[in-house]
Amino acid sequence: MNPCVAWSILTARSVSFPRLPRGHGGLSREDVCAMLAGMERPAYLMGLAYECGDKKALSELRSMLWLEVIVRARVGGWRATRPRMLCRNLAELALYEAFDPYVCPTCNGKGTTTFDLSERPDLILSPYYGELNEHEGRIRCATCRGSGKVKLSGRKRADLAGIDKRQWQEYWSDKYEPVYGLAKSWLAQARGELREKLNENSEIEAA
Ligand SMILES: [Zn+2]
Repeated sequence: MNPCVAWSILTARSVSFPRLPRGHGGLSREDVCAMLAGMERPAYLMGLAYECGDKKALSELRSMLWLEVIVRARVGGWRATRPRMLCRNLAELALYEAFDPYVCPTCNGKGTTTFDLSERPDLILSPYYGELNEHEGRIRCATCRGSGKVKLSGRKRADLAGIDKRQWQEYWSDKYEPVYGLAKSWLAQARGELREKLNENSEIEAA
């Protein structure tokens, strides 16, 4: 079973992780370690933290991303009054968003919304239409574009990072996006690898 444990890491000035990571159910930590072996360290740690709620992996990952942001800040000559803390907050926010962005309020995280076929027969022609039952149809959610998640607003991001909203918009937003992109790419690599390994395994079992 997936040994997910509560791992909310609340410190006074950092972003909180309010929910458990969502991973593939039924994979043990050993399974995940074995599947991710050979990956680059950040992706490996991401996979462990996301799939298993592994606190040690998360802790190392946070340090890694923090360092990454510090380097970017030095190279880019970022202007900040408390640069170390700011870098940490940006790293935390990026991890938080990569792991656990807001659940889409329209589809409640499902990625699809249902509609009444008799009222909207035209939607059947959409390439994103999926059948549900004789009265209802299902279509990719327009709010989250099917991901089940929505991006945090700039205002919310500023709030979580402890930065003034206007400053965020004018200065920090552009600095943050690549950091967030990096965190997302680590997670995407890990999940891609897991998906591939799971597919391989199911093919072997089916053979
Ligand atoms: Zn949605």
